[in-house]
Amino acid sequence: LTDKLTGIFNRLSSKGRLTEKDIDEALAQVRRSLLEADVNFRVARDFVAKVKERSLGADVLESLSPGQQVVKIVHEELTEILSGGDHRLTPSSQLPSVLMLVGLQGSGKTTTAAKLALQLRRQGHSSILIAADLRRPAAISQLQTLGRQLEVPVYSEEPQSSTVTQVVKNGVERARQQGLTWAIIDTGGRLHIDDELMQELEDVKAVAQPHETLLVVDAMTGQDAVNAAQEFNDRVGLTGLVMTKMDGDARGGAALSVTRVTGVPIKFMGVGERSDGLEAYHPDRLASRILAMGDVLTLIEKAQEAVDEKQAKELERKFRQATFDLEDFLEQIQSVKKMGSLSQIMEMIPGMNNMSRKMPADFDDNQIKRVEAIIRSMTAEERRRPDILNGSRRRRIARGSGTTPQDINRLMNQFKQTQKLMRQFSRTRNPKSLMRMFQ
Ligand code: GDP
Ligand code: MG
Repeated sequence: LTDKLTGIFNRLSSKGRLTEKDIDEALAQVRRSLLEADVNFRVARDFVAKVKERSLGADVLESLSPGQQVVKIVHEELTEILSGGDHRLTPSSQLPSVLMLVGLQGSGKTTTAAKLALQLRRQGHSSILIAADLRRPAAISQLQTLGRQLEVPVYSEEPQSSTVTQVVKNGVERARQQGLTWAIIDTGGRLHIDDELMQELEDVKAVAQPHETLLVVDAMTGQDAVNAAQEFNDRVGLTGLVMTKMDGDARGGAALSVTRVTGVPIKFMGVGERSDGLEAYHPDRLASRILAMGDVLTLIEKAQEAVDEKQAKELERKFRQATFDLEDFLEQIQSVKKMGSLSQIMEMIPGMNNMSRKMPADFDDNQIKRVEAIIRSMTAEERRRPDILNGSRRRRIARGSGTTPQDINRLMNQFKQTQKLMRQFSRTRNPKSLMRMFQ
């Protein structure tokens, strides 16, 4: 969709003034592209009609840059469709606030439950994850594993001797007893909607009285997503949507039609398998993304969040004075991790979408943990002056951190390379170019 739209608008931009025929031609292609991207036909039809109406206005035809004007109108209209409703979570006045996740099997409910728990904790909340998918044996242990990783409690019961509503009732009660602010219910799904599932979800809803019922939608499922979403909304009643797998090829066609057809606002976007791969939703950015303008705003915000200017200046100073040590190195890796994966960052830069697929694997969580363990096993002196690390010190550190001397050597190589890049960076003035050194 994106490539096609870019092509269309390039053509518009290079043509100069627009005639009505030009607009019709271009919008017919926009409509076709939207349909091909699995945007619901009604949504596409309404959208195109609205854009045409506005494009025929005098200001477009008299504009110096008609192509850009049409882009602006398309963008504004898209943003408007994508903006309806409240995009934040609404907590209840009484603890705990209950949030229920529903969706088809494989859409990302369990992953999203963990992501939400992590995000809520970062905002100062406490939560419990309730394992209410009793149908698949692996579902409970999947949630338990995630809970352990994030140090978030998981409430579960033996599936043989319990029922979904019982688990939910007791789980919410546990949250209440412990004074937690959120209870997050991970429910079961099916490959296709069926009555049994809907009945189960209705029952859970009646017991849990959730303040938020979020439908988790795989952004890669096209036209089917709309029908399923409508069904879920009719039977269970939704307060929000989570579009997952937005880190993939999907450019938002499903998000557009699902929110349009159901009238339910999008609240989050899943952008990776990892627990930190959840983004707050920004309608204008999604509109930009659909229009291939790149999600530059998100990128800049992420970079700023992870590396604030003061921190960067301090690093720069350390470099000038050649005092960058392993503590700083660890901090660096952690702040890059906070920005998300490298490929995710590349996705957001216009024209770089394809590049991201060629990126090498990032530091994964385990690697970062290992690096952290190694550095924590060093003495303060060793962290400040890594060059004193001889063979026996390396062996001691390996033992202390449960790694091997080879791991230490690898880390030292990475550290030296980073040091070199950081020296180059310190000659540039812009802290944001810090990111470049990791590419
Ligand atoms: P559930 O059946 O709805 O509970 O789905 P899961 O949470 O088990 O997720 C199904 C698969 O989708 C897993 O392999 C997840 O890692 C993956 N997944 C979930 N969310 C995302 C996302 O935002 N991006 C990517 N790339 N994968 C995701
Ligand atoms: Mg699941």
